[in-house]
Amino acid sequence: MTTELGLPSLRGVGPTRDPARPDDPRLVDTFGRVATDLRISLTDRCNLRCTYCMPAEGLDWMPRSEQLTDDELVRLIGVAVHELGVEELRFTGGEPLLRKGLENVLAASAALRPRPDISLTTNGIGLARRARALASAGVNRLNVSLDTLRQDRFATITRRDRISDVLDGLRAARDAGLAPVKINSVLLRGVNDDEACDLLEFALEHGYQLRFIEQMPLDAQHGWKRTSMVTAGEIMDLLSARFTLTEHPEDRGGAPAEKFVVDGGPQTVGIIASVTRPFCGACDRTRLTADGQVRTCLFAHTETDLRAMLRRGAPDHEIADVWRDAMWGKRAGHGIDDPGFLQPDRPMSAIGG
Ligand code: SF4
Repeated sequence: MTTELGLPSLRGVGPTRDPARPDDPRLVDTFGRVATDLRISLTDRCNLRCTYCMPAEGLDWMPRSEQLTDDELVRLIGVAVHELGVEELRFTGGEPLLRKGLENVLAASAALRPRPDISLTTNGIGLARRARALASAGVNRLNVSLDTLRQDRFATITRRDRISDVLDGLRAARDAGLAPVKINSVLLRGVNDDEACDLLEFALEHGYQLRFIEQMPLDAQHGWKRTSMVTAGEIMDLLSARFTLTEHPEDRGGAPAEKFVVDGGPQTVGIIASVTRPFCGACDRTRLTADGQVRTCLFAHTETDLRAMLRRGAPDHEIADVWRDAMWGKRAGHGIDDPGFLQPDRPMSAIGG
């Protein structure tokens, strides 16, 4: 059932239970981690063309027939929550607001019991007119990507002149009660790294929670270079020029962001140092792509085809067991520092962050 990417898929093969896997209903792996956080990519399409993510002309989008239908998607989410103990759902893309029927999928997810925590990561385009409907459908929290406050830079980085849509979307999310609204920023050397302090000031002023994310090698063009990545250490140095940052006393658990209290608090800033300070040892994530493939890690080189199981009529308990087997094979971490590191074939836009 597991597909080695680039090779023909083994569709239709039944579950292969590893006898060493314990009789635990949850998604456990050989390193003692338990996945309770499901990241769901709703579409690989996006309405921006960020230079660090994809080429100007876009990508070959997934044909609609390959995408899970809303019913298929909701069924797999139900399996995750009811059979596998998943507690948190994060909807991503591509750009999840482009998915038709999004609010229906959200509402069906919110109706599950135990009720999962529901969040959504968006680029903010179209959010201003959708925020209330998203909140009513059951979204608890939102992350909005924003790398710059300057209109011209936004247009250069995203290849679209839409910064006012994003700023309006942030306001609308806050007004719809989706607090705390988080902003995700990626700093690019020589492009927007001079805006670290301005971005934090903007977030503090408007009551948003800012998180800087180290850029990861997941771009479609395979152009990532470690030397051009702005590291967590550098981000700290940049911010320290204007702010006093102290470590947040709260236990971080499996959260990717290291939190810092800004100028004595109460506001905070987060840094997600995925590359220089990986947190894979505490990873609690499992991932589902828009075409129904389970990925155990952002950087996995294998996928497990649940769509084929759905379409051949497999029952929930069988799907759950194949999902458990996939997670049992999860690797220790992303291995970016390993000499033989290979970027996965699927780009970030088709995996979901
Ligand atoms: S890189 Fe993979 S193992 Fe590490 S935190 Fe991300 S999903 Fe988890």
